[in-house]
Amino acid sequence: MIKLRLLNAVAPAYFFMATVVTFILYFCLFIPTIFPGPDTTMRGSTTLHVLAFLFLMFNALGNYVMTIKYPAESANESAVPVCSPHCSDKVDAHYLLNGRHFCKLCKKVILKRDHHCFFTGNCIGNKNMRYFIMFCIYTSCTCLYSLVLGVAFLTVEYSISFENPLTFLTLLPLSTGYFFMGSISGLQLFLVLMLYVWLGIGLVCAGFCCQQVLLVARGQTWCQLQRGELVDTPSPWRSNLKDVFGTRWILGLILPVQTVEMSSQDAEEVKQD
Ligand SMILES: [Zn+2]
Repeated sequence: MIKLRLLNAVAPAYFFMATVVTFILYFCLFIPTIFPGPDTTMRGSTTLHVLAFLFLMFNALGNYVMTIKYPAESANESAVPVCSPHCSDKVDAHYLLNGRHFCKLCKKVILKRDHHCFFTGNCIGNKNMRYFIMFCIYTSCTCLYSLVLGVAFLTVEYSISFENPLTFLTLLPLSTGYFFMGSISGLQLFLVLMLYVWLGIGLVCAGFCCQQVLLVARGQTWCQLQRGELVDTPSPWRSNLKDVFGTRWILGLILPVQTVEMSSQDAEEVKQD
């Protein structure tokens, strides 16, 4: 449990650090180096790149905030409830009946709990699943885009050729060796490390997002999947997706906004708050 609590504090800090570092590298190194000078032909593409980056960052951070702002808790149940006989103490949640869970980290009853996300320090459930999926998509896009610009920067600034596909495999061990031999600077080694960080986060987020979308389409949660539970009354994938993404889902794809009409029960809960 202490390990999980620690992870719950370290993961958001790691996320913010990576975001700040990406921002600084992008505006202080990548853009001035790859698009130098007041060339008018360059100005158009520079503006396009900056706008694309800001759009991706805005959506990633906006959906991150929305995931935390709309938690999946049940406002009516705050006391620690009794576990069902199937509850295992190994996981970070107590399994209750009717698809409800008591998360030991959030200390709340979570409706339609999927999993506890350590990067947001929050449980993912019925209300914030759509923001969580959009957060994964945009984080993946931001990381892969930063990776491309990082590669371009290393090519322009340090004349490293990425033409051979094996370059990426040998880049980290070679750079580490060269750094200790004093042939390359600390900044160059740090940039090489960041390439791997962006590639790793980008691929993991993309894979995770695909898995979540498939689960949502099947109307299943990660919790149910882990216990091998099947959906009692399967509904068509279209209606499952609509339940999560709402009727104004296209707007939700491009902006981190509330896209599902609040049910009367939700509205009452908000009023009570
Ligand atoms: Zn939780």
